[in-house]
Amino acid sequence: MAKVTLPNGSILGITDGITAKQLAEQIGPALAEAAIAAKVNGELVDLSTSITEDTDVQIITLKDEEGLEVMRHSCAHIMAEAICNIWPTTKLVYGPTVEDGFYYDIDLDESIRPDDLPRIEEKMHEIIEADSPFIRQEMTRAEALTKLAGDKYKVDNINRTDSDVISFYSHGDGFEDLCRGPHVPSTGKVGSFKIMSVAGAYWHGDPTQKMLQRVYGTAWPTKKELNEYLLRLEEAKKRDHRVLGKQLDLFSFNEAGPGFAFIHSRGMIIWNEIVDYCREVHNRFGYQEIKTPIILNEQLWHKSGHWDNYKENMYFTNFDGVNYAVKPMNCPGLCLVYKTRQHSYREFPMRIAELGLVHRHEASGVMHGLFRVRQFTQDDAHIFCTPAQIESEVIGVIELTFEIYRAFGFEDFHIELSTMPEKHIGSDEIWETATSALKVALEHKMIDYKINPGDGAFYGPKIDFHIRDCLKRSWQLGTIQLDFSMPQRFGMVYTDEDNTEKNPVMIHRAVLGSFERFIGILIEHYGGNLPLWLSPEQVRVLPISEKTNDYAKVIHDKLKEAQLRCSCNLSDEKINAKIAKAHSEKLPLMLVVGPREAQSNTVNVRIRGEKENKTIKIDEFLKIAKDKISDKEINLAF
Ligand SMILES: [Zn+2]
Ligand SMILES: [Zn+2]
Repeated sequence: MAKVTLPNGSILGITDGITAKQLAEQIGPALAEAAIAAKVNGELVDLSTSITEDTDVQIITLKDEEGLEVMRHSCAHIMAEAICNIWPTTKLVYGPTVEDGFYYDIDLDESIRPDDLPRIEEKMHEIIEADSPFIRQEMTRAEALTKLAGDKYKVDNINRTDSDVISFYSHGDGFEDLCRGPHVPSTGKVGSFKIMSVAGAYWHGDPTQKMLQRVYGTAWPTKKELNEYLLRLEEAKKRDHRVLGKQLDLFSFNEAGPGFAFIHSRGMIIWNEIVDYCREVHNRFGYQEIKTPIILNEQLWHKSGHWDNYKENMYFTNFDGVNYAVKPMNCPGLCLVYKTRQHSYREFPMRIAELGLVHRHEASGVMHGLFRVRQFTQDDAHIFCTPAQIESEVIGVIELTFEIYRAFGFEDFHIELSTMPEKHIGSDEIWETATSALKVALEHKMIDYKINPGDGAFYGPKIDFHIRDCLKRSWQLGTIQLDFSMPQRFGMVYTDEDNTEKNPVMIHRAVLGSFERFIGILIEHYGGNLPLWLSPEQVRVLPISEKTNDYAKVIHDKLKEAQLRCSCNLSDEKINAKIAKAHSEKLPLMLVVGPREAQSNTVNVRIRGEKENKTIKIDEFLKIAKDKISDKEINLAF
């Protein structure tokens, strides 16, 4: 009898050789019904896998991220069968999962058109209704290569694995595909799906190869979740910051500088509000601020390690016969500032901020509005401290970061810790010390985090901060990177308590990352309906007719005096047209004034997104509006 340890720590005795599915039945019928796959000693396997020895077993359902992936990937197989059924000459290439769905790359001379998609979906529904089992068959590599001889794509897939056992999966009417697995137990276990689109894709991204067709699909446990996802996609389209940026006159791009954003005056108001607020928080957390040059001698970048590790993304220039680089990062400039005088342990921790303008070359294909640009401003800072201060400094950065995210209305965030990558500088020992300091700080704050093995920067391990926007999209914003290497490279030292010279610990950190990108995220998160404190124009006075223009001007003056960002629409348009215009510009507050308001010294307040209007005294309005701005309140209602 083998012993199985379940995720809750309980131990079950089982008959040797029962399948994971039978184990799920032993635990309970509800779990057996929901089961998609199993994790045996950490390895994801089919439910038909036998358990023969003492092991840790977790039954995977669609509630698990891995279960969702197994289901989506299984859906890719079903789509492949449907496509092969309609176009028998189709050659299958590979069908992995992607965020929210899956795709399958196929080689087919005839182009699949958008109006073919319902046909594919219909065929898929038939396969799912048949509820036939996914059956795994294993053979040796040599046998598999013989079986697939002549199929260059599948032979290539085999050559790319290092496993000696090659597996095939079949289901339905003899449809079979080379695959490592695992899959759902039967086609009926696939949830609600939709084929989304077809695009061209090169085999392994190689443009010298034949262009393949990539068919994208999405799949969800239930119809309801599928519909919610499709709705989120629609909503994302409406919130596209590139469209809203143009409509609200916030920024533009021009072919004179691809990937370089032109920020318009309304966009600069948002920008400056963000800068003012961040400066205030950083002052409170004990940061100093500096500014370093954008163009610096190429030699500096040899010294910093960027030349060896980052050259392909850098811009270079030459004058007076000397080579210079445009900075892709602010740290080397800061190191030069550090070295202008001597330092003592008494000054530590030293927190130095810089709103640094950096240039990083990106391929033209990946640029996307403000989200992916070639020139951006980082809310960068570096901390110099002793090894003993690392933990408390990292804790301080975490607190500052969370405070800033909350001020912008982001409450849903998570953290990832990335460890030593293959391409790195510094010894294994240094990496170990730095990584464990980050872990201890996170555990001290009782923060859950995910580990990304091998995903660290080339100069040290890092913590990344991710936020989720209102459409549940995840964005990586902030980062804390430990660096035991750059201080040595630059010969930066401090005098320690024992009067000896030592290299300080250097911590690189950013909270919002790039201002440009963050503004893009804010625009999409709020759909252009920015909180009052960030709105380029906060209030607009709308006189009902010419008769109340004078009163409107008095109100407008009072708003200006109270330092609200405001305007007054004195055009001869009808009041409804004035309101519609202000709505389209996403004005948070409108003050409609007519003879009645003029007589009682009041304003009729229209609040963006609220059905009811309110007539209140102008002084009362000013007080409420100013309080909302200084409290950075997201909710406009009053
Ligand atoms: Zn598969
Ligand atoms: Zn840095």
